[in-house]
Amino acid sequence: MASDSLANLRERLLSFARERGWEQFHTPKNLCCALSVEVAELLEHFQWAPTGADQTRDEIKQEQLADEIADVLIYVVRLADVLGIDPIDAADKKLVRNALKYPVDRAKGNATKYSEL
Ligand SMILES: [Mg+2]
Repeated sequence: MASDSLANLRERLLSFARERGWEQFHTPKNLCCALSVEVAELLEHFQWAPTGADQTRDEIKQEQLADEIADVLIYVVRLADVLGIDPIDAADKKLVRNALKYPVDRAKGNATKYSEL
């Protein structure tokens, strides 16, 4: 995902909110609540799926999953904007820290938490 497309999305989401007078509702708390709900809606698609099973996803299911992923992304991008955080920069920095916490030679093929590697 190109960073400029994310910046473009951020601007379109801000315009969407401004046009509707919704900025007043986009507090960090409200956006975190909305994000949590959307993550739960995404998770719901996998609820009760047998552990380890690869679900068969038909076209409708894919569209529903795409809708929920879009909702999650929209709220993450909106929240980051309200908080003045560049999500790509934050993710880049986090990835560097994760690489240090999970060195390939110890973490490869291993789902153990870094503190127990
Ligand atoms: Mg949703």
